[in-house]
Amino acid sequence: MNEAKVPFLDLKAAYSELQQALDDAVLRASRSGWYIGGPEVERFEADFAAYTEAKYCVGVGNGLDALTLALRALDIGAGDEVIVPSHTFIATWLAVSAVGAKPIAVEPATDSYNIDIASIECAITPRTKAIMPVHLYGMPVDMDAICALAKKHGLAVVEDAAQAHGAKVRGKKIGSHGDIVAWSFYPGKNLGALGDGGAITTNNEAIAARVRELGNYGSAVKYYNDERGVNSRLDPIQAAALSVKLKHLDVWNQRRQHIAQTYNQALSDLALGLPHVPAWAEPVWHLYVVATPVREALQSHLAAAGIQTLIHYPVPPHLQKAYQTLDIKAGSLPVAERLAQQVLSLPIGPHLAAADVERVLAALASGSPVVSQI
Ligand SMILES: *Cc1c(COP(=O)(O)O)cnc(C)c1O
Repeated sequence: MNEAKVPFLDLKAAYSELQQALDDAVLRASRSGWYIGGPEVERFEADFAAYTEAKYCVGVGNGLDALTLALRALDIGAGDEVIVPSHTFIATWLAVSAVGAKPIAVEPATDSYNIDIASIECAITPRTKAIMPVHLYGMPVDMDAICALAKKHGLAVVEDAAQAHGAKVRGKKIGSHGDIVAWSFYPGKNLGALGDGGAITTNNEAIAARVRELGNYGSAVKYYNDERGVNSRLDPIQAAALSVKLKHLDVWNQRRQHIAQTYNQALSDLALGLPHVPAWAEPVWHLYVVATPVREALQSHLAAAGIQTLIHYPVPPHLQKAYQTLDIKAGSLPVAERLAQQVLSLPIGPHLAAADVERVLAALASGSPVVSQI
């Protein structure tokens, strides 16, 4: 049964495809004498700003720092409320908590799994300062609707784009719809470094300058500190590797798209919740997530066929021990709680072979718990 495994994501294959160029880039950075900042970082920031259709890009240490510095750059802090999705990776919430503000959870729409825009207005209070949409699984949120709502209520918009490199809304790339957009280059993301990395993009020069200063000890001029910043910078070796990978991002996203289409077509007759793509959305398929009430049985069935699947995410932020003190009771965010019990991420990635996709489909079609449901 367990012969050749189908891995969830093959990061080594991603390196192998670009090995010569990545090795050259890492060596070039190593030999340059610039180990913080400098030309490699400046080049990647310019390239990534251009790619995301934003005026400015500032590299930071990781995605969580990008989110946290984005909030700080907007002066969001103690006593403020920030609207976040109930169904997301916990980093979205952690950034809000890190600046001393309170995350206010809004449930996802049952088709997109992204924040339900129609439910946001009821969550707005006089303390609300910002809306933080997350383009979860690479599916973009309708930023035109979010920005219109934010404008109406005088709120800032901070996007968590950690899973959405290259995604588009009505033909416009994610990168500058909101006031500031936070990115992660964690190795498993669509654009991943050879370690940790992150960035913000924005069209607002003052916000970009503020993030750069905050990530550099709160200092714009060396040894003169305007505020209590942190040390969070994208390093040149990661920037050099990212510049190489950025050139391949569209092609790699197209491969993901092709796999997603194959899954969509082949699975439409099964008793599975499949991803829904609105007509205006161009997702980048960071994850391909199905939903089923027999999730555990399906995962075991696939594991027995040698197919690795993952759960994004098994426990929603409000039910984590880390958020016990917010006292949001189990049952109070039922959509997020149901998704945590039902979602399953199938293998997808730019290096998943067509034969492996077929093996996933064959395992799903034969004897699986979702088949016996129909
Ligand atoms: C990965 C991720 C983050 C955090 O990024 P790191 O670089 O790992 O800190 C934040 N939000 C979402 C939705 C993510 O997927």
